[in-house]
Amino acid sequence: MIVLRAYKTELDLNNVQKTACAHHTGAARWAYNWGLARKMEAYQNGEKVPTAIDLHRELNVLKKGELSWMYTISKCAPQEALRNLDQAYAHFFRRVKQKKAGRKIQAGFPKFKSKKNGLGSFRLTGAIHIYDRVIQLPRLGRLRLKERGYLPVEGVHILSATVSERAGHWFVSVQVERDIPDPEATYQPVVGVDLGILALATVSDGTRIENPRALKRDLRKIKRLQRVVSRRQKGSANREKAVKQLARVHLRIANVRKNALHQVTSLLARTKSAVVLEDLNVSGMVKNHHLAQAIADVGFYEFRRQMVYKGRWNGCQVILADPFYPSSKRCSECGHIKVEMNLSERVYICDHCGWKIDRDLNAAINLEQLATGSSPEIYACGESVSPGFQAVLVEAVTEQQSICV
Ligand SMILES: [Zn+2]
Repeated sequence: MIVLRAYKTELDLNNVQKTACAHHTGAARWAYNWGLARKMEAYQNGEKVPTAIDLHRELNVLKKGELSWMYTISKCAPQEALRNLDQAYAHFFRRVKQKKAGRKIQAGFPKFKSKKNGLGSFRLTGAIHIYDRVIQLPRLGRLRLKERGYLPVEGVHILSATVSERAGHWFVSVQVERDIPDPEATYQPVVGVDLGILALATVSDGTRIENPRALKRDLRKIKRLQRVVSRRQKGSANREKAVKQLARVHLRIANVRKNALHQVTSLLARTKSAVVLEDLNVSGMVKNHHLAQAIADVGFYEFRRQMVYKGRWNGCQVILADPFYPSSKRCSECGHIKVEMNLSERVYICDHCGWKIDRDLNAAINLEQLATGSSPEIYACGESVSPGFQAVLVEAVTEQQSICV
C-alpha cells in the first residue's frame, strides 16, 4: 500500500539562512497576494480568471523588469504559492456548492496573506536530499536539523519540502511517498471514544487518558498574556513583544497536545478494529469562546485526522456517530435520554433506572453501542427511546486528509 506521509521537524538555521528563508516566505506571500488580486481583477472585468499556470507565465515576464529581486529566490516558492491559491479557489467553490445544497457553512473567499501571524511558509520541489542531520534544498543548500534521524533517509520517494516559521522557530515538513505492508485482518475490540476538556480521551473499555499536565499551566499563561496584549498600545514595541510571547505559548500548547494525541491515536489504531467518535457540530463550535473548549475542539479535528490515516495503516476503521446522537444525554445502561445535561454535571445519574456513571465514560459507551448495535433499549426498557441514529463509516479518505505531520 502506497501512503503519503509528511515528516515535520525543526531546522537549526544560521542568520544567513534565516534571512534567505524569510525572503522565500516573502516571495511566496507576494506571489499569492498578487495572484489573488489578478484573479479578482479579471473576474470584475468579466475576463477569464487566470490559473496558476497563466499567472506563473505572467510572473516570469515581470521578473525581467521590476521583480528582478525574485531571481535570488527559488522559482518554486512563488510557483507553489500560486498553486496553493488555485487550491484555495477550488475549496472556496466547493464550499459555495455545499452552502447552496443547504449546509450551514461560510463559503470564505480566499484572503490576502499578511505577516501578522508570522512569516508563513513556502514549498520547494526538485532536488531534495536528506542526510542524517542535514536536509539539502534547492537554492537554500544544506540546512541543519535540530533532531537527527527523524526524517526518513531511505525507502521513500520525496515529493516536496515545506519550510515554515512559527514564533521564531523554523520547521521543514517533507512530503514523501512510502510503500508500507497492507494491514492484516485481525479481530480486535470495537470501542467508543469521548474527547473532552477534563480528560483528553475516555475509551468505552474504561481507559481514561488525562490531558498533559503542562496544558493547564499554559492555559493560565495564555489568559494572562492575552490581557497584557490588550492593555498595550497598538503599534507599540511592547505590544509586539507581548504578541510574540503569546505566540510562543500557543505553539507550545499545540505541540504538547499534538504529541499527546499522537500517543493515543497510535495505541487505538494498533489495538482496536474500529473506533467510534462523535461527529462535531461545526456551527456550534464557531460560537464557542471558551478557551479550553476551543483548544479541545481543535484537538478533535486533529484526533480524527490522525485516527483516519493511522487506522488505514493498521486496519482500524473510524466510525462517526450521527451529529444528533445524544451520546452524553443517553443512559448507557437502559437507553433513557435526559432532557438536559449540564456541562458541569460530571456524573451521569439516570432518572429512569438510577444508573450512576462518569459522564465521559457514559458517552464513550454510548458511542460504542451505536456501532456494535448492542443498544440496551432493545432488551431493557421496552420502549425504544433512541431510534434511527446512525453510525457513519469514514471511508472516503482524501489524499490531503491521509497526510501525516
Ligand atoms: Zn438508565
